Amino acid sequence: MTFAALASLRDGLGALARDGLLRDRRVVASAQGPHIRERGRNLANFASNDYLGLANHPEVRAAATRAIEAYGVGAGASPLVVGHSTLHDEAESAFARFIGAPRALLFGSGYAANLGILAALGNREADIFADRLNHACLNDGALLARATLRRYPHGSLDRLASMLAASTARTKIIATDAVFSMDGDVADVAGLARLAEEHDAWLVVDDAHGIGVLGGGRGTLAELRVRSPRLICMATLGKALGGYGAFVTAEADVIEWLLQRARTYVFSTALPPAMAAAAMAALAIIEREPERVQSLHANIDAFRTGCAAAGIDTPSRTAIHPVIVGESQAAVALAHALGDRGHWVPAIRPPTVPEGTARLRVSLSAAHSRQDIDRLVADLAECRAVRPESRGG
Ligand SMILES: *Cc1c(COP(=O)(O)O)cnc(C)c1O
Repeated sequence: MTFAALASLRDGLGALARDGLLRDRRVVASAQGPHIRERGRNLANFASNDYLGLANHPEVRAAATRAIEAYGVGAGASPLVVGHSTLHDEAESAFARFIGAPRALLFGSGYAANLGILAALGNREADIFADRLNHACLNDGALLARATLRRYPHGSLDRLASMLAASTARTKIIATDAVFSMDGDVADVAGLARLAEEHDAWLVVDDAHGIGVLGGGRGTLAELRVRSPRLICMATLGKALGGYGAFVTAEADVIEWLLQRARTYVFSTALPPAMAAAAMAALAIIEREPERVQSLHANIDAFRTGCAAAGIDTPSRTAIHPVIVGESQAAVALAHALGDRGHWVPAIRPPTVPEGTARLRVSLSAAHSRQDIDRLVADLAECRAVRPESRGG
């Protein structure tokens, strides 16, 4: 008997390889930081979402270590069974206070949180309106909700308004990245909140790349001064906060509903308690050292200034900077050329980004030195110059 499904999967792998879309994992042989080791090389790390340099911070490590000594490694069960510890409880209070929201709930990951939120708020009769450039997990959440996913062109509030007006769904949910993960631009959350109000919709905001970066570290909603009982905000612990997991903030009753009904909360083992402890330590550092967020922004400014002088377009003001190349193979070649010069900058290809917009994704950290940034800009300018066919786009 031939195994047709396996054969077609092998054809699929062959097609990915032909199209330059095959991904490979490179093995990191050090802790995360501004410099990492790979295959004996020391590379400046422009690939990580560790925007504040907290993933390997001594206080964050110590908090996690102490928590492991006191609570062990695993949570043992889902939060509603026996997995919710003092550390989880304290972390939820700490994040609610930090964000200025009535209540917070910890999830196992950002991916799980978005699925859980959308499936708990939505159902077969719901319409979920999503920005076309949203992170994949918001789209997957619509699938889990069995809701109708209606995607609007990136940032187009006009189109969204007419789609909302045309919708007869009893439950309407607008879902958006706050900072778009491959472009670094910021959603007009205030405008979205107004539309949510006008059309009686929920507004789910994914602040994975805004927490720790915008609003003095408190995130995009703080930066844009948006508040609304219709808002549900998800922020991850795995990026600027340097750990793993996620938390959701909203009205107390919304959080209570998620606790009761979010499938990825109810049917999944609680976050390891040490991750809750690590997140609290990270939060304490952000509150105590505002200069950490400021030095991230100083690095962002330095990168933008250097790029402008080199004729490289940098529209973003967050930690994420796309350098659009166009074709996948060209983006990969540019990433390799930078690798040869000691920089780890990832090439991002379809389907993560739209066809024809393959790019480098430079992510900046407070932990980078000015020299790290200046070297990257100089090498980026030179490597692009020797590849004139990959310019622009
Ligand atoms: C990383 C990311 C997620 C997923 O978070 P994890 O905690 O890594 O699962 C969700 N949304 C956005 C925009 C992200 O960048």
